[in-house]
Amino acid sequence: MKRTSRDIRTANRYEVLRQIIAESPTSRQELAAATELSLATVATLVGELLDLRMITEVGFEDSAGPARGLVAVNASGGALIGVDIAETYVHVELFDLGLNVLARADEDMGPGESLPEQVVAHVAAAVGSVVAQAGIEGARVLGVGVSVPGQVDRDTGVSEYAPNWDWHDVPLLDLLSEVIAYPLYLDNPLRAGAVAEMWFGAARGRGDTVVVNLGTGVGAGLALGGGLYRGVSNSAGEWGHTTLVLDGRLCRCGNRGCVEAYVGAAGIMLNLRELSPRSPLLHPDDQTATIDALARGVGAYDPVALKVVRETARYIGAGIANLVNVLNPEVVVLSSWVARKLGEPLLHEVREAVARHALRRPLAATEIVLSPIPTDPACLGAATFALEGALQSLGQRTATKRTTLARSRTAPPS
Ligand SMILES: [Zn+2]
Repeated sequence: MKRTSRDIRTANRYEVLRQIIAESPTSRQELAAATELSLATVATLVGELLDLRMITEVGFEDSAGPARGLVAVNASGGALIGVDIAETYVHVELFDLGLNVLARADEDMGPGESLPEQVVAHVAAAVGSVVAQAGIEGARVLGVGVSVPGQVDRDTGVSEYAPNWDWHDVPLLDLLSEVIAYPLYLDNPLRAGAVAEMWFGAARGRGDTVVVNLGTGVGAGLALGGGLYRGVSNSAGEWGHTTLVLDGRLCRCGNRGCVEAYVGAAGIMLNLRELSPRSPLLHPDDQTATIDALARGVGAYDPVALKVVRETARYIGAGIANLVNVLNPEVVVLSSWVARKLGEPLLHEVREAVARHALRRPLAATEIVLSPIPTDPACLGAATFALEGALQSLGQRTATKRTTLARSRTAPPS
């Protein structure tokens, strides 16, 4: 796809704002160094962001040389909402422009609640709740980023395929726009999680990074070459549906032997059931309770829990070794709720398993870590998508205003 000069300008403006959010306060000189843009370009973009009241001037740098003006994000310049739609819950967070969480809301979804209208109702309730909690006016909400599992078309806002609910071509943003008045942006948790790590997590300031999402669904977000890697049709990273065991377990995508069938929450429950069919750790039909019980069991050195985590890590490790061999990343991040709950013991076993399968050279260059992001990375990433979208539309409005202004200035007197 060809990038226009406006696309590049929007991307540069976004990059500068991202640096300011991550490093406030900062100077134009520091921004130029961090973004590798010229000082003149940075000065122009900073001027635009000041016009948009997304950043403010906050005095001068304390140094011996010539005085350098400092800018910082204007946290109260607008609010962003991130929506994490998962298989068993909807989690919504409202952020200020500095991406600090101002309000949170949760909605549980039962196993039977898989119709688009039911999911939309939960999202609308949670969005209404965070706006009310934060006590802000609706006009200050710049946008709502929505993360939904599966393959999505960002441009049309359609959930093309969600294997968990067997959704095909659901016009999710159209349905949401009937009940939510703010601008809406759609993507999936793999990409949202990868962006969250790039901005605030383990990928910040690092090279190529793979963010391995371990939840009910499983996949990999790819932060390659300094940006998000989407693939030609925005479906890169479906690592959960790569084949790990020929003729193996049936996966919900319809194939057999997929990574997800062994390391997704349901796959882990099956690992436990195969090892100890009547284990008290097993809570049938309740993934969260089972993973919680396993985490507690590991903490108490329960031999069954330890064995299940080791067995699961063997599968994760073989799958991650493939990613390490193919992509040669600097960092692999274990993210999402299963990784968070099983924590360090899982990380330890995964590192050992990857070392058994990966080639020595790429392995030596790779660090495997748990996500350091304390809140929900999918919400945070989704909010950044809303920020990106808002910046694009605000930038267009500013550009139009400037052109109109320039035209009126140069118009001949009538
Ligand atoms: Zn599959």
